[in-house]
Amino acid sequence: MKVLFWDLDHTLWDFKKNSREALAEGYAEFNLDTYGISDVEQYIESYEKANSWCWNEYREGRMEKSELRGRRFKMAMEPWGLSSDIDIGEKLGHHYIQTSPLKTHLFEGSIEVLTKLQQRGHRMVILTNGFDEVQHIKVEKSGLAKFFEQIITSDSIGFKKPHPQAFKISLEKVGVDAKDVVMIGDNLEADILGAKSVGIGQIFFNPYSHYHNETLDYEVKTLSEILSIELH
Ligand SMILES: [Mg+2]
Repeated sequence: MKVLFWDLDHTLWDFKKNSREALAEGYAEFNLDTYGISDVEQYIESYEKANSWCWNEYREGRMEKSELRGRRFKMAMEPWGLSSDIDIGEKLGHHYIQTSPLKTHLFEGSIEVLTKLQQRGHRMVILTNGFDEVQHIKVEKSGLAKFFEQIITSDSIGFKKPHPQAFKISLEKVGVDAKDVVMIGDNLEADILGAKSVGIGQIFFNPYSHYHNETLDYEVKTLSEILSIELH
C-alpha cells in the first residue's frame, strides 16, 4: 500500500480562488480606490504578476521570506505610482497573510478522494513549499487535517521541492522507502520531476493540460481520476 505525498497549494487547496478572495477584501479594507486603483481586477492581476516574480526570486534564494511578504504588494502598486508608499504595502501584506490562510476553497473532489484513499488504508502526508505557520492554518481551516499524519513544509526542513533533500528528509521523517511512495502535485518541476529524481512515484495533477515532454508514471486532469489508479 503506497504512502501518498500530497502537494497542498494548487493541488488540494485552491490557491488562486482563495488568494483572490483575500486580495479583494484587502482592496476594500484599505480603500484602494481612493488611491486611484479603480479596478479590483487590475489590482489583483498586478499583484499576481508581482507575486510570481517575487516567489521566483525566493525560490532561487535571492529574496528572503520577510522581504517577499511586503515587497510583492509594493510592486503590485507600481503601475499606479504608489510603490514608494511603503506603509500601505506593508499593511496590505499583513492583511493578506492574516486573511488568505483562513480561506477554505478546495479543488473539486478533494474531500471525497482523500476520504476514499484513507478508507483504502493509504498513509498520507503533505509536502509543501509554503511557509510553516501559514500552511498549518490552511490545512486545519479547510478540514484537511484529519487525512494527514504529517504536514512537512520546506520552511521546517530547510529544503524546497524539487531539491532531492526535500524528498529524502521527508522519506526519513515518514519512515518509508522511495519505492513505496507516490507524490501527487500540480507543479511539474517541483513536485513531479523532483519526486522522480529520487525514485518516488508520480501522479501529475494537470487540470489545464499544460504541454510537456516528460515520461511520468501517471497524469490526471481531475482529482477523482486518482481513485482509478492502482496504488498498491
Ligand atoms: Mg502546488
